[in-house]
Amino acid sequence: MERTSTAPKDAAAVILIRQDTDPNNPEVYWVKRSDKLAFLGGFHAFPGGQIDADDAAADVRNAPNSETAAMISGAARELFEELGVLVIRGGETLTKGQRESLLDDLESGRMPWSALLDHYNLHLDAEDFTYVGRWVTPPFNARRFDTWFFLAKCPPKQEPRVIAGELAEGEWLTARGAYARWMRDEVVAVPPTLHALRMLGAGVTPDLVERFLSLRHAQGEVARQITFRPNYLCFPVRTPTRPPATHTCCYLVHTSKELLIFDPGSPYEEEQQALAECIDEMVAAGRRVREIILTHHHPDHVGGVNALKTHLGGNVTVAAHEETAKILTDVHVDRFIQDNEIISLDGEPPLQLQAMHTPGHAPGHLCFHDAQRGVLITGDNIVGFGSVLIDPADGKMRDYLNSLERMRSLPNLSVLFGGHGPAVATPYKKIDEYISHRLERERTILKAVQNGVTDPKEIVAQVYTDVSPKAYAMAERAVMAHLEKLREDGKVR
Ligand SMILES: [Zn+2]
Repeated sequence: MERTSTAPKDAAAVILIRQDTDPNNPEVYWVKRSDKLAFLGGFHAFPGGQIDADDAAADVRNAPNSETAAMISGAARELFEELGVLVIRGGETLTKGQRESLLDDLESGRMPWSALLDHYNLHLDAEDFTYVGRWVTPPFNARRFDTWFFLAKCPPKQEPRVIAGELAEGEWLTARGAYARWMRDEVVAVPPTLHALRMLGAGVTPDLVERFLSLRHAQGEVARQITFRPNYLCFPVRTPTRPPATHTCCYLVHTSKELLIFDPGSPYEEEQQALAECIDEMVAAGRRVREIILTHHHPDHVGGVNALKTHLGGNVTVAAHEETAKILTDVHVDRFIQDNEIISLDGEPPLQLQAMHTPGHAPGHLCFHDAQRGVLITGDNIVGFGSVLIDPADGKMRDYLNSLERMRSLPNLSVLFGGHGPAVATPYKKIDEYISHRLERERTILKAVQNGVTDPKEIVAQVYTDVSPKAYAMAERAVMAHLEKLREDGKVR
């Protein structure tokens, strides 16, 4: 059941296959999304983007229906805009220079895509675009897309190149080679990208499309399990969390033999059941549930602990920081996790997580660092979607900033797994943003106080000009936390 998440927007992507490539392991063009993008910045993916209203107006021949035609048109346009590759009929005689000026006409907005094709006597043909599924972004993010994927062959004498803007880099790579890079933790990618690489890596066979579509998630059914990184499965569950977030990410960290469950947060039965089924499958595959671990005590992170414990037969250890255990009343913590404690998982590949006591958002907040794999489970200290509230009831701004600094000092981080939203593929940039955002707020609050404004309500009105009045009550809590820190720092009385 999805209640508050927004409807996904139509989008299209192109999996570009190289001319004359080895059909047993074809080369595909994959791209790294710019670090600056709010949606999946720094992720490896295929070129694509949101459908424009004008896409439906383009001349697309041989499409089974108008919806498919519009999607193909959007896919072709995105491919052209992002990589300069034009998969088009009637364009065979266009010179490189002519394609450049066409691109310029499109980018500068001189002519819309559909008019441009007409003007140059070009048209699209559905036969050049093989539909291989549609994937819907899980509802853990407000930005959601219903993305249609198409295979297309790169036309002769055209060479893709990354056009600055949404993409940072791109390259031809064999499907198996690209997948291996993901397996080696060198990139972060989403399930449809990985699925495509796996299918193509098994060869361009007559049943290729059938294999692509054999997954329910490749046919528009929202995936419940997301593996951004091998051995780290994200399972978002719907929770009564703070808007705009609607889900909390439960993480299932596993080897061939053992499984750790982080933050089973949903109090809703159907969500608990879905999670339990996923865990049951992992157990049926030969794994032992080692522990349920809590990053902190907030209800949206612990709401499903008791139900899961019961489901697993009652004798599973629940582990958390002692401070968390002190606050929790309905959930019993069996084991305390100490700062710097190392949790080692048996099996393949062996995994080691180091616990870090990182208070601020909550007194017993823990993060978990896998130094070997470059992973940091950040709980609510950093989230992939929404913002982190430091509420003086149990939050401390000074501790929080220290915790962020400590996280920032970890070497070789390549991905953050937060308590809400998708993984973050730009760890240091994200942590820096969090730190500078808080310090900037602190500066403006201090200035307001120095100008004689002391009432938190008034401070909010002056300082939080970028948030909607609906969020003022929360902003007021944050101001109190900032004032407390400024007092501790001796900057205000
Ligand atoms: Zn929280």
